[in-house]
Amino acid sequence: MIRFRRLLMFLLLMAIVCGGHAVATETAEPFIKISRRHDGRDTATLLATNNTLADITVFLNVKGTNFTASKNLPLKVVVPGKAEKYEILKLSKKDTGGRWRYNYNYEYGFGDASAQHDITYLYRLPYESGKSYRIAQSFGGKFSHQKGLHYGVDFAMPEGTPVCAAREGEVVAVRSSSDVGGPSARFKDKGNFVYILHPDRSLGVYLHFRKGGVTVAPGAQVKKGQIIGYSGNTGWSQGPHLHFSVHSVLREDEKGKSFPLRFSTSSGAKTYLLEGRSYTAD
Ligand SMILES: [Zn+2]
Repeated sequence: MIRFRRLLMFLLLMAIVCGGHAVATETAEPFIKISRRHDGRDTATLLATNNTLADITVFLNVKGTNFTASKNLPLKVVVPGKAEKYEILKLSKKDTGGRWRYNYNYEYGFGDASAQHDITYLYRLPYESGKSYRIAQSFGGKFSHQKGLHYGVDFAMPEGTPVCAAREGEVVAVRSSSDVGGPSARFKDKGNFVYILHPDRSLGVYLHFRKGGVTVAPGAQVKKGQIIGYSGNTGWSQGPHLHFSVHSVLREDEKGKSFPLRFSTSSGAKTYLLEGRSYTAD
């Protein structure tokens, strides 16, 4: 009887450990945190802690009176993945006799602002070979592919469609827990995603996975064509689809930057995918 119970416990444990293929370690939030260290009465240092494996570009500004900063403001600085209390700026009192006062604010985007994209690289379509999906929005699309998201492509596909890596690289951040989405920018931080760091240090961005639909974890190396999850409709989305784009910095405003892409298709290499047309992955 005891043996039988042990067997039951073992089976239960295995069921928890192996419970479905869609288990992935989710990247902890907040992704980045800025803190202040007082180095004395008249100096302070701003420090960044990056909770992800991805490089994150921080846009920081400081306003106040009677202070000097160690770098020009506003500041754009890349905080390496997993950096803890990384020094980004020193502040000191200008006139040591008087009072000083300052406030800082910041925004950030995933990716390394200095990354250069290999323009000769031929991406595969981010779904299984032989499958064909309609382009719902292409480069410069009016709905949301503007400014930092300019070179994005949206592939209309039913929820649960296997998503494949368009290029090899290292998974640096994922989210899989969201069940929320809708057709306005206020949902932009509610989507499930996979970010993949490419060998040229550009960042591959795959968005809108269904809840629990990410099958890779941060730190994993993925091959081109490997399944990384299952599509959905989470985040800023007006219907089930997969968004794919490649960035130095991922932001939807002018601080972000995406790169033009070339895709391999069953009808040859394409530098532009036409909205409304379907393309078959080769
Ligand atoms: Zn999109």
